[in-house]
Amino acid sequence: MKDVKIENMDWVSYHELTKKGACKIILPIGAIEQHGPHMSLNPDVLIPSYIAEKVAEKAGNMLVAPAISYGYKSQVKSGGGNFFPGTTCVTGSALENYVFDVLQAYVGHGNHEFILINGHFENSMHLCEAADKLVKKCAVEGITIKIYLLSYWDFISEDTIAQVFPDGFSGWAVEHGGVLETSIMLRIHPELVDMSKAVDVEPAKFPPYDVFPSDPTWVAPSGTLSSPLKATEEKGKLILEECVSGIVKHMS
Ligand code: ZN
Ligand code: MN
Repeated sequence: MKDVKIENMDWVSYHELTKKGACKIILPIGAIEQHGPHMSLNPDVLIPSYIAEKVAEKAGNMLVAPAISYGYKSQVKSGGGNFFPGTTCVTGSALENYVFDVLQAYVGHGNHEFILINGHFENSMHLCEAADKLVKKCAVEGITIKIYLLSYWDFISEDTIAQVFPDGFSGWAVEHGGVLETSIMLRIHPELVDMSKAVDVEPAKFPPYDVFPSDPTWVAPSGTLSSPLKATEEKGKLILEECVSGIVKHMS
């Protein structure tokens, strides 16, 4: 299988592949964020990176740019909150400018189609802003570009959800560090998961507002928003296959 990762290419080979805008560039964007005591800090980076590679290998006309690891601030109701040791985030303007700059550099190499694969919910609107600004700036310069933006979990069907959560699905909002991400990590990086340290928690229930400064008592001390105990590698395989084939179908 040929290597689809730009960072592993020499510049001449990269230039040959991309100079006429022949490839779509996939940029994974994640976060460094606690995901419970049973898992590493980087699922939000590793999951979209893995999906990006599989999509590029299948599609044939795509390359994967090095991932952006740092993401927008973890929020209590979606990521446990920005106060956990290890959770290391940047401001929205920093993320937006960084993504803008990286994409603009790839435009400079002759690329004009991009797929942003997001792995961290809180990034979403900042990625919209970066994409929107760059499209407009390029248009002013007479360059037409197209940027697709997606979060991988939006490719998971209700059928798959029913199989992954046979006892009922508590919703995406509380999936942080739960069955979904843990199952995927068991599939792609089992060495970064220790199920003996997984903590069983009830799905988090939050008031219908946010508060600043954050109130750490809103989150279970373990940091996950639901229980990871029913995670399995098989569930991870099922989720990944659906995400990869769905993204290939829509983006090829
Ligand atoms: Zn996550
Ligand atoms: Mn996250």
